[in-house]
Amino acid sequence: MIVITDEMTVEARKRWPDCITFDIVECLDCGFKGLIELGGENCPDCNEDHLQWEDENNQEFTI
Ligand SMILES: [Zn+2]
Repeated sequence: MIVITDEMTVEARKRWPDCITFDIVECLDCGFKGLIELGGENCPDCNEDHLQWEDENNQEFTI
C-alpha cells in the first residue's frame, strides 16, 4: 500500500485548495499514485480517467 508523504499532501493542496478529504488512487495509464480530490475521476498527471483505488481498504485520506 501507498505511504502518503508530506510532498503528496502539499501537491494535493495546491491543486485543490478547498479540499480536505482526498481519494487515494493509482492511474492505470501513467502509473501515478497519490491523492486526488474526493470523487475526482481524472488523473492529475495524464488527465485520463483510468484510475483505480490504490487499496480497496484504504480509499480516503483526510488532511
Ligand atoms: Zn495518469
